[in-house]
Amino acid sequence: MISKSLIPLEPASPAHICPLDQACSYLEAAAKELNLNQGLLEILSHPRKVVTVSIPVKLDDGEIQVLAGHRVQHCDVLGPYKGGIRYHQAVTLREVSALAMLMTWKCALLGIPYGGGKGGIPIDPKRYSIGELERISRRYISELIKDIGPSVDIPAPDMGTSAREMAWMMDTYSVNVGHAVPGVVTGKPLSIGGSLGREMATGRGVMIIVREALADQGKSLAGVRVAIQGFGNVGGAAAELLYEAGAKIIAVSTGAGGIFSEVGLDIPALKIYAAENHKSIVGFPQSVAISNADLLALPCDVLIPAALENQIAEENVNRVQAQIVAEAANGPLTLEASLSLEGRGVIVLPDILANAGGVVVSYLEWVQGLSYVFWDEERVNREMEHLMVQAYHRVIQQSKKRQISLRLAAYTLGVGRVAQALTDRGLYP
Ligand code: GLU
Repeated sequence: MISKSLIPLEPASPAHICPLDQACSYLEAAAKELNLNQGLLEILSHPRKVVTVSIPVKLDDGEIQVLAGHRVQHCDVLGPYKGGIRYHQAVTLREVSALAMLMTWKCALLGIPYGGGKGGIPIDPKRYSIGELERISRRYISELIKDIGPSVDIPAPDMGTSAREMAWMMDTYSVNVGHAVPGVVTGKPLSIGGSLGREMATGRGVMIIVREALADQGKSLAGVRVAIQGFGNVGGAAAELLYEAGAKIIAVSTGAGGIFSEVGLDIPALKIYAAENHKSIVGFPQSVAISNADLLALPCDVLIPAALENQIAEENVNRVQAQIVAEAANGPLTLEASLSLEGRGVIVLPDILANAGGVVVSYLEWVQGLSYVFWDEERVNREMEHLMVQAYHRVIQQSKKRQISLRLAAYTLGVGRVAQALTDRGLYP
């Protein structure tokens, strides 16, 4: 077992599966399959830099609260650290460290010149006003000013953050260094150098990977029954694009519960309904309420967990009836659940492939910014699709060649690429 003693981690919660242990198990399995040298495995199992800052913030009522803000830089062998910043009450340093590691393999698998990083603040953003969120975001970034930059570490949105937070972060960084630096973050608003297509990118990537997996079975998206856990940036976009492609979206959910319709939900109408009802979807006409637990167990062709980690675990995996499970969230299946589904012949499309569309368009945004040439949406989508489809085929080929699961295939490709670069660069001094 890999020693993680170098990271000053908080104690693992006995009630939860530790995301970092899980990420390390995937790395170890890939290293074993690749016959990776133990020294390389040791290097890759530790983040290069872990930063925790305190964020003092004045709340609207005049009180001062001090929050923790993490940024974990896992590996920059292939290029600058890249990865989102998460605002969620369940954020821990363990989780951020695990997600930073996943970003390293994701970028390497997709062939984009980045390493992996991730940041997070353990808050429920819904409990803060816009002004408070702005002060939190600005202070967090100013505390990290020496650790980030367009060729050092490039944050992006993740759960609980969006283009709005990226704009505040870009502005804070720029004001501190004395000039505008659009390339310091991606997922920015269009007005300051964001890319067309970025907002829908993760959902679009999910749609593309599901479409390719169905095509391999001689099927198309038309008429396919899909259940989606989550209706946020990723789940909502995936629902919309799958619906446009003719799939029947039989259920979607938010943290507050889900809705089901045997004949399929009218997704454009649901988007309007959710916007009018403060993101609540329960009560949507011609649908019935369904719990998140029951949504995961629906008879359907494709199940897309697009919310939190560890949603499908040992206790509920036997209820899953889908033939394809696409991990739109990061780590929505535990290792045991994943193995159990694969054992039953279910196709599990792993997160580092299925949800890579976001970071791919982040890369395209960064490239456009660095070259001062901006593309139309059609070009962004085309370039992204090309990278996603190529990566999908590399994973399928690797899985067939080595007779391993798609997850292990994806990990061996990602880990293998980084290990090769590390070997070629050599160890300093
Ligand atoms: N947060 C997203 C992810 O987990 C996007 C990261 C990025 O664009 O850098 O992949």
